[in-house]
Amino acid sequence: MRAVAIIALLAPAAALQVRSRPPALRRGAVALAAGADDDATLSPKSPMAGMVLLGGTEPAFWSDLNEETREGTFVCAKDGCNAPLFPSETKYDSGTGWPSFWAAGKDAITVDDGGFLSAMFGREVKCASCAGHLGHRFDDGPINTTGKRFCINGAALRFREGLGDRALPCEDAAPSS
Ligand SMILES: [Zn+2]
Repeated sequence: MRAVAIIALLAPAAALQVRSRPPALRRGAVALAAGADDDATLSPKSPMAGMVLLGGTEPAFWSDLNEETREGTFVCAKDGCNAPLFPSETKYDSGTGWPSFWAAGKDAITVDDGGFLSAMFGREVKCASCAGHLGHRFDDGPINTTGKRFCINGAALRFREGLGDRALPCEDAAPSS
């Protein structure tokens, strides 16, 4: 009976440790204006964003960011991260139903080494700052660019106009080892 009580006390503390990340990981974070998170669809607190950032995949054509064509930067939707990830000039319409890019910002993401199923399921792409799951990278991108297709969950992103100098140069990300 006493052991059960101790486990019940420890469990919430363990869950808290998994969720919190050290501030040092928030490299490249962008300060957001007050009210910037008013869009419930894109809120990092939305159930879809939470599910996606932990490794899930949103339904195809779920995100309004499929149609986003303005000039700007797509940043990480993880609460408190906001790292710039994809410059708008690398976005293209892949027809898949997920926001697609042919390159990520410099050092913005990590790409796993895939394994033997990567040709079919792609390589997992994560935010380099917070390790939140973003989507997958495939080798069927536009051949006049990098030839890569970063297939990214819109729920893992938020769009920011006018980040100015924070907009990152386009650069294909090398797989992390
Ligand atoms: Zn992040």
